Amino acid sequence: MRAEIIAVGSELLLGQIVNTNAQFLSVELATHGIDVHYQVVVGDNTRRLSEVVTTAANRSDLVILTGGLGPTKDDLTKETVADFCNKKLVYDEDALTSIIAFFEKRKITMTENNKKQALVIEGSRVLPNHYGMAPGMVVEADTCQFVLLPGPPKEMEPMVVEQLRPLLQKGNVKNESITSRVLRFFGIGESKLEVMIDDLLRAQSNPTIAPLASEGEVTLRLTVKHHDSYVANQLLDETEAAIQARVGEFFYGYGESSLMNVLISELKEQKLTISSAESLTGGLFASEITSIAGVSDIFVGSIISYATKVKENSLDVSKELIDSHGVVSEPCAEQMVKAIKQKLHSDIGISFTGVAGPSSQDNISPGVVFIGICLPDNKCTVYQINVGGNREAVRHRAIKYGCFYLLNE
Ligand code: ATP
Ligand code: MG
Repeated sequence: MRAEIIAVGSELLLGQIVNTNAQFLSVELATHGIDVHYQVVVGDNTRRLSEVVTTAANRSDLVILTGGLGPTKDDLTKETVADFCNKKLVYDEDALTSIIAFFEKRKITMTENNKKQALVIEGSRVLPNHYGMAPGMVVEADTCQFVLLPGPPKEMEPMVVEQLRPLLQKGNVKNESITSRVLRFFGIGESKLEVMIDDLLRAQSNPTIAPLASEGEVTLRLTVKHHDSYVANQLLDETEAAIQARVGEFFYGYGESSLMNVLISELKEQKLTISSAESLTGGLFASEITSIAGVSDIFVGSIISYATKVKENSLDVSKELIDSHGVVSEPCAEQMVKAIKQKLHSDIGISFTGVAGPSSQDNISPGVVFIGICLPDNKCTVYQINVGGNREAVRHRAIKYGCFYLLNE
């Protein structure tokens, strides 16, 4: 079953309101295993609305329209759909009665316009509006089924939940539901990851595997369709296991989690504290870790040793070391991390020294960063990365790599 959602309203095109109706309906349809192939937004214009209705009827089995059911001149949805189906508009007795009652109760005079809201497409199944005046309707056309819903979310959402949902449940025999699982990877590019799971990507059907790259990370969204959630999860487990076997070393978490979040949970679980010595990152590690609430029991503090003097005076980086290796070097990162862990009395230390750019420093090109990590047993490791991007990207990437290396220690 292919579904399409058409949101009607010029205010949507003008950006005055956000199309939350489409989102709501997409989620609802997904839970019933109905694939939404298109979401369309169209203004309050008869010709263009008629065009999208015709297109939708030709390519989709279920066409859900929201908006434009009201009493004003720019509300054209039911007129346009009726026209397309060659059907008349007729008064729905129940809708008319409740509209008259609505006005009597409030002692307001009813206009002809208001009466128009009780007009429905002949032969349609009427969905009474318990939260407003314009009823919704389900219309059987030759090639598809139309569902017309009011625009205001306060009216549309309960109409879907209370009235459309039972119809969707009944109509959709297989009642498949869609379950997704997102796997997050770091330290590997999208194309390299795709090559490593190429055969899985080729063979994919259920679950499907969709790669996405952003901000130096790659995610794989696995989506499975099955009516039984136990089986759905089993299918996801199997596919995930196959993926983990190939690229598990780059995996760090699920769903919406971030490297920093995962690191924080890990440190909390192991009851370990951390401090940072930061040169090119200028306190970014400290800032990112403290942007998450509840880290006072794991994050001790940071020394921003941007100037060489501060590296010397506060982190005991010796003149000899600087003369022979420079501040952007493995020995400097190592001394910085040893000193911060000792001076701030934390279980773990992390240090960053590198070239953020845009220009090179001491003949070292932008993107070269040394990251020192010192563990509770005083074992220290320095990693060198060479990342692309502008100054901001280099600094943020450095933090992500720092978290990633720590998680893999
Ligand atoms: P009314 O009887 O209120 O005129 P209607 O069915 O004619 O209802 P519209 O006139 O298209 O609906 O929209 C009424 C209001 O509903 C809009 O001003 C907006 O606040 C909200 N609305 C309409 N469409 C959407 C949408 N797609 N997403 C979120 N809100 C919407
Ligand atoms: Mg309206």
